[in-house]
Amino acid sequence: MNVSVLRQHLTHLLHAHELPQDDAPFLWDQRKRYHSENVVVVLPESVASVQKIVRFCAEHQICITPQGGNTGLVGGAYAQSGVLLNLSKLNKILDISLPNQSMTVQAGCVLADIQAAAQQVNRFFPLSLASEGSCQIGGNIACNAGGLNVVRYGTMRDLVLGLEIVLPDGSLMSHLTPLHKNTTGYDLRHLFIGSEGTLGIITAATLKLFAAPKANATAWVGVNSIDKAIQLLILLQGTFAERLCSFELISDFALQLSAKFSQLAKPLQSSWHILIELTDSLAREDLGDLLAETLFTNGFEQAVLAQSQQESQHFWRLRENISAAQRNLGVSIKHDIALPIDNIADFVHTCEKALRQTFSDIEIVVFGHLGDGSLHYNTFLPCKDNTAYQQEQAINEIVYQHVLARQGTIAAEHGIGCLKNQWLSSVRNEHELALMRAIKQTLDPHQLFNRGKLLPKQ
Ligand SMILES: Cc1cc2nc3c(=O)[nH]c(=O)nc-3n(C[C@H](O)[C@H](O)[C@H](O)COP(=O)(O)OP(=O)(O)OC[C@H]3O[C@@H](n4cnc5c(N)ncnc54)[C@H](O)[C@@H]3O)c2cc1C
Repeated sequence: MNVSVLRQHLTHLLHAHELPQDDAPFLWDQRKRYHSENVVVVLPESVASVQKIVRFCAEHQICITPQGGNTGLVGGAYAQSGVLLNLSKLNKILDISLPNQSMTVQAGCVLADIQAAAQQVNRFFPLSLASEGSCQIGGNIACNAGGLNVVRYGTMRDLVLGLEIVLPDGSLMSHLTPLHKNTTGYDLRHLFIGSEGTLGIITAATLKLFAAPKANATAWVGVNSIDKAIQLLILLQGTFAERLCSFELISDFALQLSAKFSQLAKPLQSSWHILIELTDSLAREDLGDLLAETLFTNGFEQAVLAQSQQESQHFWRLRENISAAQRNLGVSIKHDIALPIDNIADFVHTCEKALRQTFSDIEIVVFGHLGDGSLHYNTFLPCKDNTAYQQEQAINEIVYQHVLARQGTIAAEHGIGCLKNQWLSSVRNEHELALMRAIKQTLDPHQLFNRGKLLPKQ
């Protein structure tokens, strides 16, 4: 069915305001790398509308691609034909329950709005990413997002109590009751978390809430090696246990870029930097002192403790602006990797050496969530434009070979999308891939949902 005929059908099926006047804002992905073609964008306002669209697509064998805030970094939310179904109009907070420590929300709620709604009732929703002002909770669930607070609260998978999903045949699977325990057969919720829109459309979710932090301490620490950073992590895990919320690693090069971009001073001079956040739900005033004492008595003297919320925000801005700051280096070939934490130092040293043997003028921006073992390992070649992508395969082969040799993974928190599906077989064996294909075949026999994403082409 061509696009104009499809649009006509959808116009009859939906309310006028469920079709945008202008499709353009939905077509390019975040990095301007993938552009949707031959699609009709729809903005359903109700679950019933989502079901209508899905049933129509199933009947006419039309591809359907869910899209949230479109901040994904692996080309997951763009389409080459059919319907691009953006969830942004399903954006209501449906329920907040203090006894159940839960919040039920529609999938198109922006993450920052969910955080703010939790704060209003003196609770905390801990998922936090630099894209939180635009990404949606449905997209976060579909990608099993991670971010800054995984050390303490886990990934999105750990924060979901229940889901509502429109399946590829248009039927609704709804489990939004806030149950913290429910051991009744296979936990299908986890099949959909991280499924990147290939198995169904998430329309709502029940999320866990936590006590709001009443005290925090933020420190910036300089270390001369990643090994030293890991010693510090072990020390803080042992001393502060669940109070350790974030433990971020930043290379000096990444910090220089961000400091210039943010027009903020570097907190200190060092080859590697660690940003630490401790929080406590009690309003204790000694958290900062305890952190300072732990650092200094254990030889981590190159450290600055934030003396005010403003200084803490200054530190965090330096961390959060790295993604934007590195754009000045041109097109980046990004790697969202995770490794066992004790293999990270070896990976960083040997991989850099190997990359420089082939690409002598490569620049590497390393930063990320060392506390949970995941890193953003972004590489830049001197050509600043898209011709850099010609070397993507060669760079990926070197990076992933070093990751895999150290029991790491090629996708920590951004997912697979269409950028990495050819690499999936390097981390999943043939039996696992066959099982994934069987699941996909059962739910979506005509391969209409997010075609070409996640699973490798056969
Ligand atoms: C500056 C920046 C920083 C980032 N930092 C982090 C970080 O620290 N940690 C992290 O995990 N990610 C990070 N990301 C990546 C991105 O923000 C996350 O992957 C986010 O979870 C995607 O949400 P979204 O709503 O934008 O999804 P989209 O980009 O719209 O979609 C992503 C995938 O989910 C599917 N999808 C979207 N909504 C639904 C739905 N309702 N039902 C079914 N499938 C759906 C899409 O089909 C697609 O496959 C960052 C991105 C940027 C730009």
